[in-house]
Amino acid sequence: MAIVYSPEYNKHQDKFHIENKARTDAIMNNLSKQSFFNKLNIIAPSRADLNHVLSVHTPEHVNFIDEFCKKGGGNIDFDTYATSQSYQTALLSAGGSIKASKLVLNRANKSENWAFSISRPPGHHATSNKSMGFCIFNNVAIAVEYLRKTYGLERFCIVDFDVHYGNGTAEIFYNDPNVLYISIHQDPRTLFPGKGFIDEEGAAEGKGYNLNIPMPPGSNNTDYIWILKEILGPVLKEFNPQILFAEAGFDGHLNDPLSRIELTEDFYSWIGQYLIEKHPRLISLLEGGYDLKSLANSSLSFIVSMDPYLFLSENKNEKSNFTDKFSHLQINKSKIKYKFKEEIEKEYLEKLYISSEVKKILSSIKDNFSPYFKF
Ligand SMILES: [Zn+2]
Repeated sequence: MAIVYSPEYNKHQDKFHIENKARTDAIMNNLSKQSFFNKLNIIAPSRADLNHVLSVHTPEHVNFIDEFCKKGGGNIDFDTYATSQSYQTALLSAGGSIKASKLVLNRANKSENWAFSISRPPGHHATSNKSMGFCIFNNVAIAVEYLRKTYGLERFCIVDFDVHYGNGTAEIFYNDPNVLYISIHQDPRTLFPGKGFIDEEGAAEGKGYNLNIPMPPGSNNTDYIWILKEILGPVLKEFNPQILFAEAGFDGHLNDPLSRIELTEDFYSWIGQYLIEKHPRLISLLEGGYDLKSLANSSLSFIVSMDPYLFLSENKNEKSNFTDKFSHLQINKSKIKYKFKEEIEKEYLEKLYISSEVKKILSSIKDNFSPYFKF
């Protein structure tokens, strides 16, 4: 496992904007306080080559950003900024997704099966020809095209659990049957970008490969875990991707100022464990998350969930007990409590109530996608 990160991301900075360097600083500072920090493999990316960026974005878009930044930057649109350094930083952020992909593909042994690119600016709103929603280039799409060209991989799945619909990622692969995009997000009638309804299911050859799960405001861990298990389990099994990407946004947290979804750290711990269990090659990329404390703790839960040995190797007895899944769960040194996926499911699924609205969303998705997937 590896973390891909560079302090150079801080050069894309506007302290008056909610998407600023305090976000990745909060994540890295929190990580650095953990007792396992010196065991983390933190690797710096290099800037993405232009040919990889141009396999996703139009030359007009790339040139526009380059020129805009050379002139000193400013506001690209109502909510997306660039500085004189942002073009280079956006190339580095895309390079982070390529680096994370390389690490997972070239892994030396089986335990190196995931990488997390903690990068800025984020990517999932950037379309092939436009920056929007704080995003300049589409990091995940650039990594997919890189893997297609360099490694000849054919089938990709992207699971996006940022609270916003990743309209850029969806648009780029909308006609592509080899990239299955699954997004769970707050109902687009109530949140930016106003897209991501169930019937936006892909087009042409790609019909059936854009799967949206729009969740009502107020949805919580129970709703998310329940519906994701119902959908991701059968769909991932059937689609059988060679690589699984996670667009990891933490802005669905209860304390996040941009959303009305009520997730906690337990959800981020669950999704990390669930995804790594479903697929042996997982590449995660940071997207949103704007309450600094929640972002730092949620991403910590996510990182540890995919590699509990980070916690457990502190103490030999703890490590030897690891196979006995429920014999020890409290790791005091590290401030957060490690919970296994099964324990989280028990806590949130056994006693709690799933609203009829969420049940209805599941049955609409099953109806819509039954021609493409067996649920
Ligand atoms: Zn978001």
